Amino acid sequence: MTMLTAPSRYFTQDHEIFREQVRTFVQKEISPHIDQWEQEELFPKSLYRRMGELGFLGIRYPEKYGGSGEDIWMTLVLCEELCRCRAWGLPMSVLVHTDMSSTHIARYGNDEQRQQYLVPMITGEKVCAIAVSEPAAGSDVGGIQTTAVKDGDSYVINGAKIFITNSVHADVFCVAAKTIKDAGHRGISMFIVERETPGFQLVKKLKKLGNNTSDTGELLFEEVRIPRRNLIGEEGKGFYYIMGNFQDERLIAASMAVSASQQAFEDTLRYVRERKTFGKRVIDHQAVGHRLADLATELEAARQLTYYAADALQRGGDASTEVSMAKLFASEMANRLAYHCLQLHGGYGYMQEFPIERFFRDIRLSPIGGGTSEVMRDIIARRGLDRD
Ligand SMILES: Cc1cc2nc3c(=O)[nH]c(=O)nc-3n(C[C@H](O)[C@H](O)[C@H](O)COP(=O)(O)OP(=O)(O)OC[C@H]3O[C@@H](n4cnc5c(N)ncnc54)[C@H](O)[C@@H]3O)c2cc1C
Repeated sequence: MTMLTAPSRYFTQDHEIFREQVRTFVQKEISPHIDQWEQEELFPKSLYRRMGELGFLGIRYPEKYGGSGEDIWMTLVLCEELCRCRAWGLPMSVLVHTDMSSTHIARYGNDEQRQQYLVPMITGEKVCAIAVSEPAAGSDVGGIQTTAVKDGDSYVINGAKIFITNSVHADVFCVAAKTIKDAGHRGISMFIVERETPGFQLVKKLKKLGNNTSDTGELLFEEVRIPRRNLIGEEGKGFYYIMGNFQDERLIAASMAVSASQQAFEDTLRYVRERKTFGKRVIDHQAVGHRLADLATELEAARQLTYYAADALQRGGDASTEVSMAKLFASEMANRLAYHCLQLHGGYGYMQEFPIERFFRDIRLSPIGGGTSEVMRDIIARRGLDRD
């Protein structure tokens, strides 16, 4: 057997064996189709089943529910390798399913809910989405207006959600709604809503600047009646569940930014080594070499900050400062890198045949989705500035 060398002190040989498995899957089953799926603005739902068969959808979930009980590093391996497909939308959709939405049921749901929903999510039979953002409230989660009113053995949900990833593919939505209208963030609870529930509607699939393989949509809830047993955890705790989950979501967003930037950087290196101007390779102009040196340094800094945040999260406890720093730095770095790498491609960088064009569009989401850079700075300023 070939010995695999761990690329950092955080990854063991088991992580590297898994890395090879995901890399082969991406090379064989995603990359050959990704351009077509980008054009069609959707990837086949059957890919979830396939990833379920391969054990990719329940990495950190308990074996009792079909998961593998692995650590955060295994999730980062999945993230890093999925991003090799050179389209951010697909990894985003898959990771929303595995680590940003089903997490509500896995962490805060009861055993019955986990058996009913988490088990088929791990096999890929059911796809999950998280519906928090609304037309009038994104960063300000406490300002959501969707309501859930108790009525006998049911809750009745009314409201609207926007920018929801997996809107077309999802069978199950973890929905934030106010059970106490005027209690701000303390009035929020989380609910499981199945797609087929009467009154639930996908209003439309949204057209976007990038991330086209990911299905982003607008949802409407009109007198949506769900059984009381679909409440996740306790009433009024939804905001805290959302904030807890944000740590994973933002760490993964940081890792996605780093991983996609790595691809863009390697593509750019290849290009400037081949392209010649003024009688020499573009890379041999000193200004280009210095630019690449700066980009490589920033990219490595973002990667190490992301690993540092992952380490803090893996140890347990509150890692929101570390994770916010990683997301802020990695997202902003990725957009600077996108600008400069496209520039280094000259006119070809503006053409759709070159992956840098897609990266430039896709990565613009990074400082917005899952908490904007401004919100990250707020968190760091509030929580991270008073250390010894
Ligand atoms: C492609 C895509 C996929 C998404 N997927 C999901 C999903 O699956 N589920 C989900 O629930 N949501 C999803 N979102 C929503 C996303 O999380 C929000 O767009 C994001 O949190 C920002 O909220 P907003 O768009 O309402 O912007 P706003 O909150 O209205 O912010 C507008 C501007 O004001 C700034 N701002 C806000 N507050 C402050 C402040 N305190 N200080 C300084 N500046 C501030 C923001 O940084 C931003 O620049 C998705 C969004 C996109 C674009």
